[in-house]
Amino acid sequence: TALPRINHLLTSGKPGESVRIRGWVRTRRDSKQGFSFVEVNDGSCMGNIQVVVPGEVPGYAETIKSVTTGASIEVEGELKESPGKGQRVEVEASSLRVIGSADPEKYPLQKKRHSFEYLREIAHLRPRSNTFGAVARVRNRISYAVHEFFQSRGFLYINTPVITTSDCEGAGEMFQVTTLDLAKLAQLQTTLDFSQDFFGKPASLTVSGQLEAEIYATSLGDCYTFGPTFRAENSNTARHLAEFWMIEPEMPFYELPENMSLAEEFIKSVCRAVLDDCQEDMDFFNKRIDDTVLATLDNILAHEFIRLPYTEAIDILEKSGQEFEYPIEWGRDLQSEHERYLTEQHFKQPVILHDYPRTIKPFYMRCNEDGKTVRAMDVLVPRVGEIIGGSQREERLDVLTDRMQEQDLDPAEYWWYCELREYGTVPHSGFGLGLERLVQLVTGMQNIRDVIPFPRTPGHAEF
Ligand code: ATP
Ligand code: MG
Ligand code: MG
Ligand code: MG
Repeated sequence: TALPRINHLLTSGKPGESVRIRGWVRTRRDSKQGFSFVEVNDGSCMGNIQVVVPGEVPGYAETIKSVTTGASIEVEGELKESPGKGQRVEVEASSLRVIGSADPEKYPLQKKRHSFEYLREIAHLRPRSNTFGAVARVRNRISYAVHEFFQSRGFLYINTPVITTSDCEGAGEMFQVTTLDLAKLAQLQTTLDFSQDFFGKPASLTVSGQLEAEIYATSLGDCYTFGPTFRAENSNTARHLAEFWMIEPEMPFYELPENMSLAEEFIKSVCRAVLDDCQEDMDFFNKRIDDTVLATLDNILAHEFIRLPYTEAIDILEKSGQEFEYPIEWGRDLQSEHERYLTEQHFKQPVILHDYPRTIKPFYMRCNEDGKTVRAMDVLVPRVGEIIGGSQREERLDVLTDRMQEQDLDPAEYWWYCELREYGTVPHSGFGLGLERLVQLVTGMQNIRDVIPFPRTPGHAEF
């Protein structure tokens, strides 16, 4: 039978109830009168449950010494009203068992606060810290909210391939897949041919499931993918990972303004879900990580996102009087410093920039009649900058193939994509949102490495 978890006992356990709990010891305090207080956590919430262990518990004298921080224990007893401040109930133990001990001399997590750099080095114990427990629970709530949002609107959840040949973004950031026995080849001193290495054919890890999602959307209607995505970018920023999770809805018959509305509703609904259901963790983030987090989310919910053409954004940035590291010029992509200026200083709320220069956006975006811009949109939010990249897709075959050639892509290689424009083509749109950037926005965590359980960055793939 399932044991009630600690969050349940703390909020709705009734004094007098018999209980059994299992979890990991946070701290222990022995009183001079021959009994002990043990704080136990099982990961279901930030709070610990206090266990009072009377000296009369069988085996007390021998067992209590190994009830140390990090050890796993099982306790049976009775729930009591707690005389202590800040807790409704506590457990009075009638039996206590140590399941797995933890040597206090060696246990890496101490009571003091550890730096995130230190915690990254001990990824296997990181979730036992308050911060990473809270991140994991909020991330879980967000993932669930993603499905709630799209499912409640009738979207079809599809899975797009991880192994693919299509370089959707055209940014040359794909990891090659290989089936070659590298060790053997090295022994034979053979030159490696990485262009044919998926059983004799080329293959890479996906940078986006969009092109494949378009196939489903233009057959079955609104759909979304939500899966791992890979970018071989050798960058060490606080918002880029080599492996991240992307949410990509794709909608037939949508033009850009409807795409923008969906993106805005989506972000708001995720913020609402977290505020409603993760109060304890959100209070922790606001108190210990960033004291503007709750206000930022309230602000996001209170206003409509600004919609601003790229060209006007360039104008604002030029007139801002700010000293930016990267130059502002019509035709250049914005950098995070520019995006943050717009959202944090100029507008003080999220901004959807749209109609970007065609030269800086991929081939699949719908060309505007001005010949200079495409129907692209980037959703920018405070603290994170770009959180969503999206567009209306080019539905006209002739324009699409021209654009591919312009960007040195061979339409023949994307015949399956081009053919969609031959048989019942429709205007359609979609966007991609990085889950980790959304978790950063919601929690206030500064570094993207700290909002994914196992961050993959240049040189880091061990555990
Ligand atoms: P950036 O300009 O920050 O490098 P991008 O324009 O290259 O992002 P897109 O190709 O538009 O990214 O991907 C859609 C979304 O996926 C982004 O808005 C972002 O939320 C997320 N994303 C992109 N690259 C990464 C990455 N390396 N790590 C984490 N999330 C990412
Ligand atoms: Mg990028
Ligand atoms: Mg970008
Ligand atoms: Mg983008």
